[in-house]
Formats: sequence, C-alpha cells, structure tokens
Amino acid sequence: MNILMLGAPGSGKGTQSEFLCSKKGFKHLSTGDLFRKNISEETKVGLWAKDFIIKGLLVPDEVTNKMVEEFLENDSDNLIFDGYPRNIEQAVELDKMLANNSKKLDYVIYLDIDDSILVERIINRLVCPTCKRSYHKLNRKPKVENICDFDETPLEVRDDDVLEKVNQRLQTYNEQTKPLIDFYKNRLKKIDSNNKSPNEIFKNILDSLGI
Ligand code: AMP
Ligand code: ZN
Repeated sequence: MNILMLGAPGSGKGTQSEFLCSKKGFKHLSTGDLFRKNISEETKVGLWAKDFIIKGLLVPDEVTNKMVEEFLENDSDNLIFDGYPRNIEQAVELDKMLANNSKKLDYVIYLDIDDSILVERIINRLVCPTCKRSYHKLNRKPKVENICDFDETPLEVRDDDVLEKVNQRLQTYNEQTKPLIDFYKNRLKKIDSNNKSPNEIFKNILDSLGI
C-alpha cells in the first residue's frame, strides 16, 4: 500500500509519516529531505535546488520528478510520500511512474488544520538532521535542551523555517498544492487535526486506513 501525506507546511506530515514508518513498517519518501541531503552533499541537484528552496518556491518538476523516479527504481511499495506530489503535474506523473512499476497510490491522508496555527509551529520547529524527527521549542521540547531524544544529535533550525520565508511557502501551498485535494477526492481521507495530540491524530489515521 502506498500513501500520500497531504497538508500545509507545519501540518504534521513529517511527524505522522515517521509514526507510520516506525510503527507500521512503511518507508518514508520525503522530497524535502532528499533535497536537503543533496544540498549538504553539494551535489548538482542540491546546488540547483537550493535557490528555489530558500525562496519558498517549488523546485521545478523536471528535477523533482527525476529524483523521485530514481527512488522508485529501487522501492515502489509500502511508501509514505511526504511533500510529493505538490502540484497537479507531479500528481499525474506519480500515477504514471507507479503504474510503470505495477503499483499505485492507494490513499491520500489530508491533514486539515487551521492556517493560524501553522506559522507559530514552523517558526518554533527544531529538527534532528539524523532521524528527521521534529520538535517544538515550547510545546514539544526534547528531554535535553537542543538534543534529539532518539539519537543525541544536536537539533537544527531549517534555513527556510524563518518568518520571512514562511508566508511564501504557505502561499505556494495554497496556490499549487491545495488543488490536489480535489484531484485526489476519490482516495482522500480527511483528518481533522485541530486541537489534537500527535498520538490522537495517528490513531485517526490508522482508523481511516483500517490498519
Ligand atoms: P519540505 O521539507 O517538504 O517542507 O520541503 C522543503 C522545500 O523543498 C519546499 O519548500 C520546496 O522548495 C522543496 N520541495 C520539496 N518537495 C518538493 C516538490 N514535490 N516539488 C517541488 N519542490 C519541493
Ligand atoms: Zn534524531
């Protein structure tokens, strides 16, 4: 079964993807993480993608789709797609790529959350560069200040998690990614994520998938 986590930046896609991977054996495909890995390794894709990411814009489809295609050559089932597709063109391309591997995207989990919460969450986010888990500077602090609970790596602030970039990222989401809700209406599971703990949301996701 392949699943897409759909939602605005800061809606909890990464956290819920991590739960599905560690508790249900899925594998995480986060295009944002793949781009950040390419940037830190200074690959050609990384150097090229950096300018778009720092501006809060989408990296052009050609490069993004190619990166996903290469991933799918090794692995195309039991995946959690996190942050891809982000527009209709990518969604059409993903259906084709999976069909080429005799697979499909079975369900789309849409984490529905009020816009007002997102900015506050993003600008307070700390991430572990090793296991990619995210924390909140005030509400979900690590046990030891600035250190990941799971692997003791010092936590970081993403370059694009600063206030100046967040509004552009939300605008990009509203203009280009939100239309996917309609595109995927037949496979969509909408999860109301307001005023719920990550564990409650996870339970709702499992119920909606019947797993
Ligand atoms: P994320 O970690 O998912 O928030 O992604 C961080 C940034 O990487 C985004 O703001 C985009 O600039 C870029 N990015 C990630 N996924 C995609 C995608 N599917 N298409 C284009 N750009 C992407
Ligand atoms: Zn960690």
